[in-house]
This record gives sequence, C-alpha cells and structure tokens, in this order.
Amino acid sequence: MSSAASPYPHLLAPLDLGPLQLRNRVVMGSMHTGLEDRLWDFGKLAAYYRERARGGVGLIITGGFAPNREGWLLPLGSSLTSGLQVPAHRRLTQAVHREGGRILLQILHAGRYGYHPLVVSASPVKSPISWFAPRELSERGILRTIAAFVRCAKLAHAAGYDGVEIMGSEGYLLNQFLCPRTNQREDRWGGDLGNRMRLPLEIVRRTRRALGERFVISYRLSLLDLVDGGNSWDEVRTVARALEGAGIDLLNTGVGWHESRVPTIVTSVPRAAFAKVTARLRRELRVPVIASNRINTPEVAEQLLAEGHADLVSMARPLLADPQFVAKAAAGRAASINTCIACNQACLDHAFANRRASCLVNPRAAFETELRYRKARVHKRIAVIGAGPAGLSAACVAAERGHRVTLFEAAVEIGGQFNLAKRVPGKEEFHETLRYFSVRLGELSVEVQLGRRIQRGELSGEYDEVIVATGIQPRTPSIPGISHAKVLSYLDVLRGAAVGQKVALIGAGGIGFDVASFLLSERDSPQPLGEWLGQWGIDLDNATGGGLIPPVAASTHRQLWLLQRKAGQPGAGLGKTSGWVHRAHLKHHGVRMLGAVEYLRIDDDGLHLRIDGQEQCLAVDNVVICAGQEPLLELQPTLAAENLRYHVIGGASVARELDAKRAIREGAELAARL
Ligand code: NAP
Ligand code: SF4
Repeated sequence: MSSAASPYPHLLAPLDLGPLQLRNRVVMGSMHTGLEDRLWDFGKLAAYYRERARGGVGLIITGGFAPNREGWLLPLGSSLTSGLQVPAHRRLTQAVHREGGRILLQILHAGRYGYHPLVVSASPVKSPISWFAPRELSERGILRTIAAFVRCAKLAHAAGYDGVEIMGSEGYLLNQFLCPRTNQREDRWGGDLGNRMRLPLEIVRRTRRALGERFVISYRLSLLDLVDGGNSWDEVRTVARALEGAGIDLLNTGVGWHESRVPTIVTSVPRAAFAKVTARLRRELRVPVIASNRINTPEVAEQLLAEGHADLVSMARPLLADPQFVAKAAAGRAASINTCIACNQACLDHAFANRRASCLVNPRAAFETELRYRKARVHKRIAVIGAGPAGLSAACVAAERGHRVTLFEAAVEIGGQFNLAKRVPGKEEFHETLRYFSVRLGELSVEVQLGRRIQRGELSGEYDEVIVATGIQPRTPSIPGISHAKVLSYLDVLRGAAVGQKVALIGAGGIGFDVASFLLSERDSPQPLGEWLGQWGIDLDNATGGGLIPPVAASTHRQLWLLQRKAGQPGAGLGKTSGWVHRAHLKHHGVRMLGAVEYLRIDDDGLHLRIDGQEQCLAVDNVVICAGQEPLLELQPTLAAENLRYHVIGGASVARELDAKRAIREGAELAARL
C-alpha cells in the first residue's frame, strides 16, 4: 500500500513509534461490541478484528477490558485478570498480526459507571446515569487498583498485544480521579491537580517499569470533559505533559463524559468538531497525538493530518461500517466506502442495551462468522422491486454473490426514505449512504431501471427470484377533518411544501422529531461549527473547567407542537444514545411536546384536542401527519398469481418499527441465503 501515489499521503504514511512500526495513521478506536464479555465469543471477535486488519487498519484498540472486578462495566463483563484468559486473547492478537496489523488492549476501569454493586470511585458520588453509588477507594484499594492495571498489562503482553491503552477519558475511573466533580478527597489522591493526577501517573509509571521500553502505552485523556467540575485547559495540558514524562508512547484524545448533556458523536455533531482542541494539545507534546470524534471519511482524516492537527486519526464506528475503509482509500476507491452516518442505532444503542453491537449500514459488523456473503453456486436471475434501503441492500449483496440482479424503482432516483432523511438537518450523512449504494450498484453491474413501476405479468418467466422491497405508505389517521387543506403529510413537508408559522405535528416518533427539526431550520446544509458550539454551550478554549458556557438562545421563526396519544414524554422511544439529543434540540427551540392527547377534529380554526379532560384548539396554520406507516402491499397478489418465487422485506413486510437498520439487515440476510 504505497502512500506516494495516493490521494491521502498523510493518512497512509507509516509511523515509527520506536517500539512499534505502524503501516499508516488509521487507528481503529476502542468500541465495545459485547463479544468481549464472554471468552467463548472470542472466535467471533477474532474474525471481526481480522477483517479490519485485512482491510489495512494500522492500529486496532480493543474494546475495554477491566483490570479487576470493581472495574467491570457489567457483572462478569469483559476483563483480563488471570492467565487462564490469555489463550483466548492470543486468538485476537494472532488474527491481527497475521494480517500485518497491530493491536493494543484497552484497560478500562469503569469506576462509578459500572452497572453492579461493587463500583468504586475517588469519592462516594453517584453519577446521574448510574444505578449504584460508588464506594470510596481506600489508600489500600488505590494501591491494589494500580497493581491490577499493571497485572492486566502484563497479561496483555503475554497474550501478544503490542501494548495497552489506558482508558482515562469519558468519565471512567481515572477521569473521576482527575476532576474535582468526582474527586473530593483530602488525602494524597485528591485536592490539587498534583494529587488528583497521581493515580493515572502511577499506573503509567509502574506499567512502564514492569513491561519495559518495547511495550506501547497509549493513554486516552479527556481534553474537554463537558461537565461542570471538569478540568480546564491548563489542567489538561499539565496532565498530558506529566503523562508524557511518565512514559506514554501515544496520547489518544477523548471528549465528554457519558453523563454530559452535550452531544459529541451523533450525526448532528459537525465532522471533526473537536479537532481544534487536539491540535492545541499536539503543540504541547512530543509524543504522537490521536484525534477522534466524528471523523468518518478519508478526506476529513487526511485534512486533519495535513494541517497538523494530529499524528493519527481514530475511527471506531467508520470501521464497523466498512472494514475495507483503508484499502479502498489507498486503492483510489474512496467513493465505494460505506460511510458511518453517526446514527448510533446499531452500535452504541445496542451496546448500552446489552446487545451485541453491529452497524446499521453494515449488518455483517461483529457478525462476520454468521452473516456470510459466499459466492453463489448457481447464478440466478433476481429482480428487486424498490430501491429503498432494503432493496438496495438486497441487490448489492445478491450481486456481490454472483447473481444477475435487476433493480426496479418507481421513482426517478434510488434511495426511498433515505432521500427524505438526508433533508433533515443533522442527517446530511445519508447523502453518503446514497453515494455508496449508487457506486456499489455500478461496480457490481446491477441493472438499475428507474421510473419503472412493475405491472402485472412483467416479470413472468424472466426471474428465478423476486424480492419485494416496495416500502411503506404513510398512515392516515381517521380524525374528523383529516382532508382539510391545512393538513399535510410528512412526505409533502420534506419534499418542500409551503408550511405556515404555527404548526402541529400529529405523531412524535422518529419522523415527527425529524420533521420538527426540518421545520425549525431554514437551511439545507450542515449546521456551521460556530453556531453548533453556541447552541450547546461549548467553549473549545476550555477556560473555565469542563468547557461549558451558557448556550446561545435559539432564534425561532416557527411555533411547533409535537403531539402523541400515549401518556408520557414524546421521544421516549427514540434511540438511547441519540434520543436525548433530539429532545434537547427541540426543547432549545421552544417546541411544545405533549403526550396523552386526544385528537377531536381539524377545521379552519385549527386542531381541536382534549388533554386531561380539557378541550382546546391549537390555532395552527398547518397540521402535519407523522403517524407512522403501513406496508405498501399492492404487488404481492399479482406475484402470487403469477407463481413467481417472491420474498417480501423491509417496510413492505412489517411497517411497524420499520427503520433503516432492520431494512438493510433484512435485505442482506435474504440475499445471503438465495
Ligand atoms: P413511529 O416511530 O411508529 O411513530 C409514529 C407516531 O405516530 C407515534 O408517535 C404514534 O404515537 C403516532 N400514531 C400512530 N398511529 C397513529 C394514529 N392512528 N393516529 C395518530 N397518531 C398515531 O413511526 P415514525 O415516526 O414514522 O418512524 C418510522 C420508523 O423510522 C421508526 O421505527 C423510527 O424509529 C424510524 N426513524 C428513526 C429515526 C431516528 O432518529 N432514530 C428518525 C426517523 C425515523 P401515538 O400512538 O402515541 O399517538
Ligand atoms: Fe456508524 Fe450508525 Fe453504523 Fe454505528 S450503526 S457504526 S453510527 S452507521
């Protein structure tokens, strides 16, 4: 893989760390998939890492492994505490090394973020997102914790890891010791910064002493805590320099604690939003610095490196989305990279719900040994009807396996619901998914027929299999006055229909929230970084400690009501790691979100409702229906009558709880079987 002829010379340049040579600057950042928690899943985990190493990643950092029981994320969760676990870990290191990659074990002590009653921290301060209050570590407990980190590093060495990353950001134990928010001790481990940073420094020093100079130590440091009581820039810089003095080889960067109420990685966070902070730290250090957070294309990564913001770039989710990311970039095929859209729906939402992480745009991620796209023995003629997420996924996988695929789409462009999603502010990344599918269809020689609505008899005798992915149609609720001129469907709105100043949205699912965001925004391009920082009250200079300042008030030109019939707060069913961002965004713009609503009628006066037994009329200019969807079933009877072998996937199969994650997975799973 030569960097000279590449459009990404900085990204693909090797790096000499002294003890270790890296073939390029791409780090696969730590991501907990859930496979780390059980040794019997390590075969699957090895396949997952192998595929990324084969795809050219320079350095892989594993999901977090606890150094002792107190440090578990979950009861009996991932840990490396005994020699008995070493052979399983060796499967991972061998898989990566055979592909020319390098791998570090991340040592993560969850501190008060653990979901179990054994949790410990610097002080007995419970986190707002935890169930259990932590026990304050005693002096002896701290010394035992240091010894546990060193033991874990020694075991990692025995398992063949090239080094370790010590997890000190995101609000985990070492971050808890570093910040006054959680460290209220008055002994030599608390108080001034010199005392607060004693624990991380001792861990680094003793690990270095125990493992020698040939073993890589990376430290992940929180540059911006984004919580009150976090560290200021001066303190962060002091800690980073001290870590360098203690013997680290690499400094990885983190932003935000898990309990922070500022988004750091979801789609609406501008790409490379925090690069400026990393660049500032890099100027202070001699060791290479790794940039992270919302870096998802080779162009963004290359630019960061070329402009001297960092020495390496960390991408965790983008490598779930496409294990061939580096190889494709190096081969000049960046347009066929399956780009991470930062949705969190199949990765972090799964991880936080105790399910195996995967990827919305790549359902094979972490399922490499189970979802296989084997070459087909018999090459079939396959018709796919509908070029939404389900149809696109099925067409690409079927063609990849060697089938001859024709994709029919009634609209004049591919994408289905993705074409609407990409118009939603903060969801511009869906453009990338459409670009990916469009390039892939060409590479795989799928015959695409746009503007073709399939009629009775057209497919008879032509195809061995027909895949029906015709999608959904919006549900029309039976409310008196539903045909009134002021009623619009979400499709009309997202396609550009004129909408008034006062608007009620019926339905507060994912689409209701998306349409509300759309109506609040006047632009169709990503939010500029400065405006985004202001909205969330982020001070990249981190002058005050934690990097938070009062948010800038929103200027809102529309008054919106977002309504649902069920009791409770609208948005409760949105993604665990992104729903709160959507709710906070709407709240910031003064959207009234109401539950337990009974719709009475719509007329010239507006939308008549009953809430808590009280009737009222919202005097709105428009009522937008976002009340879910129903399957589009028009083709099935025809296909059945023609005796065609057909399969129904995506929204056409079950519209309830349809989302792109299920649609893409169903398409891939079906095509893998045909
Ligand atoms: P949805 O999540 O099922 O929400 C439908 C909304 O309409 C609910 O608030 C429901 O609340 C209301 N509703 C249902 N039947 C109704 C009726 N007969 N009359 C009035 N209101 C009714 O569907 P969606 O918002 O269309 O989203 C579709 C899928 O796309 C979902 O799976 C969603 O997760 C996904 N999506 C996700 C995101 C995201 O950000 N993650 C964004 C867009 C879409 P009540 O029944 O309480 O009134
Ligand atoms: Fe990225 Fe979404 Fe895939 Fe997670 S699920 S890796 S955020 S595309």
